[in-house]
Amino acid sequence: MTQPPDEPTLELAQPKTSVRLGAKKLQEIKRGQDLIEALGWASLVTTVAIFLLNGGLQEITDLGSVLYAVTRLAALLATNLLLIDILLVARVSWLDRFYGHDRVTLAHKKLGKPILYLVIIHVLASVTQFSLLSGENLINEFIAMVTYTPDIVTSALAFAAMITVVVTSLNISRKRMPYEVWHILHLLAYAAVLLAIPHQFSLGNDINSQDFATYYWIALYVFVLANIAWFRILKPLLRAMTSKLKVERIERTSSDSISVYLSGKNMKKYRAEAGQFFLFRALTARGWFRPHPFSMSAASNSKHVRFTIGSRGDDTEQLQGIQPGTTVLLEGPYGVFTESRRTKKDVVLIASGIGIPPIRALAESIVGHEDDVTIIYRVRDEKDAPLMTETRELARIRGFKLVVLAGKRATPNSWMSAGPEGATDLDRLLEIAPQVKNSDVYVCGPTAWTRAVERTLNRAGTPRPQVHTEEYAW
Ligand SMILES: Cc1cc2nc3c(=O)[nH]c(=O)nc-3n(C[C@H](O)[C@H](O)[C@H](O)COP(=O)(O)OP(=O)(O)OC[C@H]3O[C@@H](n4cnc5c(N)ncnc54)[C@H](O)[C@@H]3O)c2cc1C
Repeated sequence: MTQPPDEPTLELAQPKTSVRLGAKKLQEIKRGQDLIEALGWASLVTTVAIFLLNGGLQEITDLGSVLYAVTRLAALLATNLLLIDILLVARVSWLDRFYGHDRVTLAHKKLGKPILYLVIIHVLASVTQFSLLSGENLINEFIAMVTYTPDIVTSALAFAAMITVVVTSLNISRKRMPYEVWHILHLLAYAAVLLAIPHQFSLGNDINSQDFATYYWIALYVFVLANIAWFRILKPLLRAMTSKLKVERIERTSSDSISVYLSGKNMKKYRAEAGQFFLFRALTARGWFRPHPFSMSAASNSKHVRFTIGSRGDDTEQLQGIQPGTTVLLEGPYGVFTESRRTKKDVVLIASGIGIPPIRALAESIVGHEDDVTIIYRVRDEKDAPLMTETRELARIRGFKLVVLAGKRATPNSWMSAGPEGATDLDRLLEIAPQVKNSDVYVCGPTAWTRAVERTLNRAGTPRPQVHTEEYAW
């Protein structure tokens, strides 16, 4: 597909000149995902194989030896899964490219509980086994183990750290604490891995066997730690040192949102696909340890990276007052809410409120003739909505259809504003975008609203792989 020329009024980046359509590219992504998952499973199979080859089941004669085998296998599987789980949230770009932030985070959350169960089994089985040998009760035996074996002390601390991480990750606890507290507690997972290492190598017969098993475990640790060190620490720091990114200017885009323009040297290092997001860390006394994810609100260009930030909580409220000249560190880009996932000629972009930034950036860079792109923007107040004037101007320049749905909700379950009597969300969507069934649809807004849009798309017959969502959730 080729792109019609622009009429330059609003300063816009040149849209991309071509895009590859068709479902084949999704199959290629699926093949990449299959390979990554096969490697994950292969590491678990290798762990079990090492256990069996080291005679894991050969010496089973009584309850004590059964408990010993259970202790070893549970510990090995838990360690392997924990390393995979940490890799999933290390913001590793090769994982992000295949799965996107949402799916990787979901997989990470799902692994938390099985890991904790395996660690509990490991602790209970080993304390029970030793109490059978010594004749002590479980509590005395546990105290004796922690007191007399130095590496067990650190492993007990690792166990406590893991329980804290998993318990604070349960939805019921997460909803009660600010993101920053949860984030700091979650960093204990790294402490848990490091604290558990000494006892794995000093007491774990399977790991310290000095043969293939030892090399395998060292390789696994080094691989995970190297990914974390590079993607989470070194890469962002090196880029920050060479680019010296600072807030260049700020524009108010509504009564509770601002656009922040960042510029520095070597801006091409921050090139990203429209729809992607960065972790934004303002280097101020309050902000340096409180990074927040924000989507670019304009397509990449050589002058600046731009974010549009709505006031949704304490930090984003503080950010409304960010000053020009503030140094900012960006980690990323991340996410697959991009044209790389597009398979159809027609595109429908749907945003609600502060969900507009990635939709606005996509509309700027997307390849499309006038009739190909429809933008639906749901707002409470048309006169006070983030990026409203700009989105109108952009749609006018590119010739895209823009429909603003302003005002109160039509019904409590609707994601649209009030419309003609008796018309359902589906009726109205089909009227706005009759081609929606055969389009790629990009949706960004609050979680409940996004689910409602997805239900309507499902009724309209838009296949699931053509629906792309970005949720502002952690
Ligand atoms: C991929 C992605 C892209 C985003 N893009 C934008 C954007 O372009 N513009 C914009 O204004 N907002 C965006 N957000 C949301 C923004 O990150 C949060 O509103 C912000 O982090 C809230 O911080 P707070 O301390 O002000 O609020 P809090 O009081 O801590 O929380 C307010 C709300 O924001 C959520 N939240 C808080 N911290 C985070 C976090 N680090 N990650 C995800 N959700 C969080 C909480 O669940 C809560 O619902 C995006 C979020 C994600 C995940």
